Amino acid sequence: MKILDGKKLSNTLKEEIKKEVSERLIQKKKQPHLAAVIVGDDGASLTYVGSKVRSCKQVGFLSTLIQLKSTISEKKLLNQINKLNKNPDIDGFIVQLPLPKHISEERVLLSIDPKKDVDGFHPTNFGRMALELPSFIPATPFGIIEMIKRYNIKTSGKNCLVIGRSNIVGRPISILMSQKKSYGNATVTTAHSKTKNLIKLTLNADIIISALGIPEFLKANMVKKNVVIIDVGITRVIDNTNPRGYTIKGDVDFTNVLKKAGFITPVPGGVGPMTIAMLLKNTLIACQRKD
Ligand code: NAP
Repeated sequence: MKILDGKKLSNTLKEEIKKEVSERLIQKKKQPHLAAVIVGDDGASLTYVGSKVRSCKQVGFLSTLIQLKSTISEKKLLNQINKLNKNPDIDGFIVQLPLPKHISEERVLLSIDPKKDVDGFHPTNFGRMALELPSFIPATPFGIIEMIKRYNIKTSGKNCLVIGRSNIVGRPISILMSQKKSYGNATVTTAHSKTKNLIKLTLNADIIISALGIPEFLKANMVKKNVVIIDVGITRVIDNTNPRGYTIKGDVDFTNVLKKAGFITPVPGGVGPMTIAMLLKNTLIACQRKD
């Protein structure tokens, strides 16, 4: 069994990005600049955005955090996005989801200039990704394929089961794993809440990418020996023994599945840190495209 250490790998990626930024600055090229928009004061969202902004500093990017009240109207938010679209100093920006109920996420995502959509959620980027054209790949699936590449995991001809079909993880990673690429060429099955006899699929899978958000859902008796496990799930589970009052759990019963797996990502320290590193990578790409 080999642990896929996302924390270590993301630090390597950040070092590589930092080096590229210093070279850009020596060559008097533009310093990458990421902006993040957050609406409201949801604790988890603030934590995610905070770590994205801190990571920008680590690699030498400029960063701007725009925190808006949860009561802001959709029109005012769209105006703010329009300003970011037009600001030549901002290379890329993200709008942290979820948004308050009175704001349409669809209208907001559609209003982002695809050239600055470093989250890769705009239909233009999603479509280009599906067609294997240059695009911004959503950060979490991008992090998974980077991990597969760097750990030299064989995917060609393998049975890959993706559990979950969300637009930000399950669906894009299902598309990517089936593409004619070094990290793809897998035979992909996408499972979801209406899938029947899931255990038959998990036992047949050489690679399982789990993105459903149910803590410790995937048990050792559901997987075959030497399976590759990529656990995307992040759930806060109440834990009074922890000073924070909760523990982070993945979708996989890590302690027991570990004994059977060929490769496995831990939670935390697996896919999570990779996601942030790939957001930085997308921002660097957005900045380089302007050169
Ligand atoms: P989501 O939008 O809630 O999607 C969950 C998916 O799981 C849905 O497609 C759902 O099916 C499926 N599902 C639910 N119960 C199931 C079951 N019993 N059997 C099979 N499939 C089932 O979630 P998401 O945004 O993709 O996120 C998934 C997890 O990944 C969450 O824990 C989230 O916090 C985490 N996440 C982590 C990162 C990271 O950086 N590591 C990034 C994003 C998300 P239906 O479509 O039929 O409802």
